[in-house]
Amino acid sequence: MRGRKIPLKDAFGRPFRYLRISLTDRCQLACSYCMPERLQMAPRRDLLTYEEILSLLEVFVEDLGVEKVRFTGGEPLLRRGVLDFLHRVRERFPRLPIGITTNGLTLQEHAPALKALNISVNVSLDTLRPERFHALTRREGLERILVGIARAREIGLRLKLNTVLLRGGEEDLLPLVACARDLGVPLRLIEFMPVTTARAFERLFLPEDEARAIIETRYPLVEEGWDGVARMFRGRDDPRIRVGFISTVSRPFCAGCTRLRLTATGRLMLCLFDREGYDLKPLIRPRLDREGLLRWMGRVIRRRPPGFAAMKEEILSDENQPLLTMRQIGG
Ligand code: SAM
Ligand code: SF4
Repeated sequence: MRGRKIPLKDAFGRPFRYLRISLTDRCQLACSYCMPERLQMAPRRDLLTYEEILSLLEVFVEDLGVEKVRFTGGEPLLRRGVLDFLHRVRERFPRLPIGITTNGLTLQEHAPALKALNISVNVSLDTLRPERFHALTRREGLERILVGIARAREIGLRLKLNTVLLRGGEEDLLPLVACARDLGVPLRLIEFMPVTTARAFERLFLPEDEARAIIETRYPLVEEGWDGVARMFRGRDDPRIRVGFISTVSRPFCAGCTRLRLTATGRLMLCLFDREGYDLKPLIRPRLDREGLLRWMGRVIRRRPPGFAAMKEEILSDENQPLLTMRQIGG
């Protein structure tokens, strides 16, 4: 029977409500903290097709109680046919909250369609300095991204800016706060997570407290409460400033985590720090075995790890690195 909503809970009693789906592992940028310079791309035939993703969404939303979906990547707006696909998802789920996370490089072209589909957009932006942008992403494109963001704002797209907190990026914080304020959008600062390499983590990790202290040298903040996993602040002297911190490392929110992730090749990640996830393609290819998938989910879900705090030592030791990079998992 369709729509029976089996409450999916892991061994720690945590439900799943939020599904993040990676549409591709390809990207125009090559952010050093996200991927190694040479990353083997999955062959196209290994990617879930749009048809397959749609049938999975039906099961996750109608049977398993997922209430919100975000498309990510690699760069999701790079996958051929993505707008038609998003159109079909919206048609099938008219009221489902849908978001997309993008590097913003093609936002200018895509913004009107995303607005029409009522899709909210998180744009990742770590710096406003061209030379730093180039050093971080190993590519050009900052100007294009800024034009895309301005266009998106102009037409009233729901937008947030996401910045990864990085040692070496301290100087970027005040300009980014001012930029988000002037655009009238929230800025969310995300602690760097040791997903791609542990060594980079030690070198690059900049904790929330330090970042907040830097911001408060110019813009004192007042705490406002939580928005999902982000602890939100407003400018004390300027309420147009909205800054959120997503601090997986210094204030882990794993106990309340309701996320599931699906990679572009169909691996279900029960946690960002899963080493390689679980392949659900055999349950959907050549055709969806809905009952089989529900049974499989019921079993797999119990293997969900407790989260970052309990696994920190293991995660930070070189030998136990995840086998997938952030670009494959989707952040
Ligand atoms: N290409 C799109 C983008 O950049 O927004 C979507 C995919 S990207 C993997 C999603 C988000 O993950 C980006 O905001 C990126 O900055 C973030 N990210 C990548 N590696 C990270 C890490 N090690 N720790 C924290 N965030 C990371
Ligand atoms: Fe591409 Fe996003 Fe990873 Fe940068 S963070 S390499 S834009 S997937």
